Amino acid sequence: MSKVALVTGGSRGIGAAISKALKDAGYTVAANYAGNDEAAKAFTDETGIKTYKWSVADYDACAAGIKQVEEELGPIAVLVNNAGITRDAPFHKMTPQQWKEVIDTNLSGIFNMTHPLWPGLRDRKFGRIINISSINGQKGQFAQANYSAAKAGDLGFTKALAQEGARNNITVNAICPGYIATEMVMAVPEKVRESIIAQIPVGRLGEPEEIARCVVFLASDDAGFVTGATISANGGQYFA
Ligand code: NDP
Repeated sequence: MSKVALVTGGSRGIGAAISKALKDAGYTVAANYAGNDEAAKAFTDETGIKTYKWSVADYDACAAGIKQVEEELGPIAVLVNNAGITRDAPFHKMTPQQWKEVIDTNLSGIFNMTHPLWPGLRDRKFGRIINISSINGQKGQFAQANYSAAKAGDLGFTKALAQEGARNNITVNAICPGYIATEMVMAVPEKVRESIIAQIPVGRLGEPEEIARCVVFLASDDAGFVTGATISANGGQYFA
């Protein structure tokens, strides 16, 4: 029987590429999303992958969502914590609300998803947790004190939990993408995009599929000795 993989924010952008790549690799995939029903429906129509709506910022909703996925598809073996948002502002203009929304989604979200799943992974003595952090969690970014703090927190979480999971064959790893050609990045004015690309040694944006292929490796049985690691996939823009 194929293993079950759950991808948060799995219906759009990088998450959609991850969901598709895991399906192609033979997993039964569940893609979670927050509220964009139209995109989720189009994604299911295109791929046949089931989508599930809840907010990763809500602990009880995550616990209920995991229960529902497991009842419908079977025990989850792979969790990809990909859901993320930005609420950018220079710090002197950043509101407590902008801070809270990003921390609740990008940092607490990975606790809310991983914690209810953890006892099952320990019982089954197998698990793969893959956290999608960011280059901006490694190096910091102007107008992203909230986002950089949350994404750096994801890396600390990864390294701590890797130590707790190891004895039970649960690996916990992170991927730090650089600039990837998703709707978000393609929506910025061309001039700004060109200045971003000028900072990337390979001379182009990354493709969502390039992050997805890192996920497929970390999820595989071949990656059993890789835990607590951070894969930087950023075209050479930053060496952590
Ligand atoms: P998108 O904005 O394209 O997609 C975000 C996805 O996350 C959507 O499916 C969205 O659901 C979902 N989501 C947002 N908030 C929640 C929530 N509270 N609960 C559940 N799902 C939620 O993002 P990207 O594909 O660009 O980014 C994916 C991840 O990669 C993020 O963690 C981001 O920080 C990280 N990243 C992205 C980079 C880039 O260049 N794009 C660079 C480095 C890191 P819905 O469709 O319902 O809105």
